[in-house]
Amino acid sequence: MSNPPVADFIAREARFGARNYEPLGVVLSRGEGVFVWDTQGNRYLDCLSAYSALNQGHCHPKILAAMVEQAGRLTLTSRAFHNDQLAPFYEEIAELTGSHKVLPMNSGAEAVESAIKSVRKWGYEVKGVPDGQAEIIVCANNFHGRTLGVVGFSTDPATRGHFGPFAPGFRIIPFGDAAALEEAITPNTVAFLVEPIQGEAGVIVPPAGYFTGVRELCTTHEVMLILDEIQTGLGRTGKLLAEQHEGIEADVTLLGKALSGGFYPVSAVLSNNEVLGTLKPGQHGSTFGGNPLACAVARAALRVLVEEGMIENAAVQGERFLEGLRSIRANTVRDVRGRGLMLAVELHPEAGPARRYCEALQVEGILAKDTHEHTIRIAPPLVITSDQVDWALERFATTLTRDFP
Ligand SMILES: *Cc1c(COP(=O)(O)O)cnc(C)c1O
Repeated sequence: MSNPPVADFIAREARFGARNYEPLGVVLSRGEGVFVWDTQGNRYLDCLSAYSALNQGHCHPKILAAMVEQAGRLTLTSRAFHNDQLAPFYEEIAELTGSHKVLPMNSGAEAVESAIKSVRKWGYEVKGVPDGQAEIIVCANNFHGRTLGVVGFSTDPATRGHFGPFAPGFRIIPFGDAAALEEAITPNTVAFLVEPIQGEAGVIVPPAGYFTGVRELCTTHEVMLILDEIQTGLGRTGKLLAEQHEGIEADVTLLGKALSGGFYPVSAVLSNNEVLGTLKPGQHGSTFGGNPLACAVARAALRVLVEEGMIENAAVQGERFLEGLRSIRANTVRDVRGRGLMLAVELHPEAGPARRYCEALQVEGILAKDTHEHTIRIAPPLVITSDQVDWALERFATTLTRDFP
């Protein structure tokens, strides 16, 4: 399959690049909407969407226009000066999400780190936890990014192995178990950090009622609930925020990925007045956080998400995709799950590694990503149409029922 030009790109990457990824053998050079094209002109339906950074689809024309316009006017001022994009960005994201305070950062992991710093500070200055004693509860099989602080409380050996020593102050409990949360809370607990649906772990949806219980426990024990919605947020699960499925509100919400529609790293910590209210000048910052280009891109990314009905479309097409996958009669399939357009097919171990199914899907014109050996993740841009879902389902049916030599 890999003819000379593709092999050449791959070999040159391998020669100079750190080998911290293991990509499929495809070299992409163009994207539009739900589709990407490789260097040889083959078209693929993107069923990964850069881990949900491309909810609005590739190269959305309105986000592109906002980016180009702003890039020709003012890109960066540093926060030493005000810029005319920051205030409207704050207002628009706060209004959309019902938040009181916003802290703009760049990558998702930085938003997580910033939330950890903020809730610790809140714990010492508002809750009255003795200095240096703050505890944060997290879940097993979490994914919150790759910085040193964050990988220190990962339970995945590949993520944390040989990167220590790590910062103390984290307790790990099972995901989806509210009783375990109650047991783990102490007077020094300042926050519970959790993903609404565990994405990297294989699209693990918690039992119904879990987050209602979690919300009550956090309120009762004065523990800040931090929802990492970097992957689940911004329409991916068929609601603006995944917390809305249980009608709860986090104290701190983390957004990233689709906050820029895939154009540029933009992340944000959103909170009630208390948590981010503890930060004073000089106590936290980022050269690029809140820059005018990021703000202009994020404003356009949020606008098109709402104006073009992408969130509702994710709910409708997600249901269609999920039902379609469930109706495929294949003895390779152990489970089909997800919410909105955050879906996964888990294969029986005897079906062999999920990666070879992803390679077979590539030949069929679909790019999807395996996770944890036996699971195929499916997360197309939220602009996908019914016809495109049906087209994809035919190819999934072919691939999941085929025999491998
Ligand atoms: C991707 C992701 C992150 C990290 O975001 P980066 O931009 O890669 O640093 C954090 N949390 C969740 C849930 C994610 O999916």
